[in-house]
Amino acid sequence: MIKYALICDQEHPFEGWFGASADYDDQAARGLVDCPVCGSKTVRKQIMAPAVSGTKRRGPSVEAPSPQVQAMMMEAMGKVRAHVEDNFDYVGDRFAREARDIHEGKSEDRGIYGEATPKEVRALKEDGVQVAALPPAPPKKSEVN
Ligand SMILES: [Zn+2]
Repeated sequence: MIKYALICDQEHPFEGWFGASADYDDQAARGLVDCPVCGSKTVRKQIMAPAVSGTKRRGPSVEAPSPQVQAMMMEAMGKVRAHVEDNFDYVGDRFAREARDIHEGKSEDRGIYGEATPKEVRALKEDGVQVAALPPAPPKKSEVN
């Protein structure tokens, strides 16, 4: 059985049950489908909106953090970066060599930060030198919007 939402030429909505799509067309063509309200035989199928169900998957892994969470993360990362910038020595692109020297006791033991290539970072880690990527700088106020 197929349920059709029908409407007559007087805009009376009603429902009709038919065995198949062809049955409706056949019965309507023969004037066998009439409006239960006014008896009009001029009926047509209503335009039906597609059924929308709430079955769309919303796994936490694919859900982007809310703007509030993103702002908190950015703030936390900004604090980490600010702490490093305030307390660590900036050594620029000498970072890999300096980190290795500190690790080997050839240079003053202190916190440093600077630039290193992924290859340098990999080599440092292989040698047991503790390195961590610095969080990106938070966007400057002028860059937002
Ligand atoms: Zn009607």
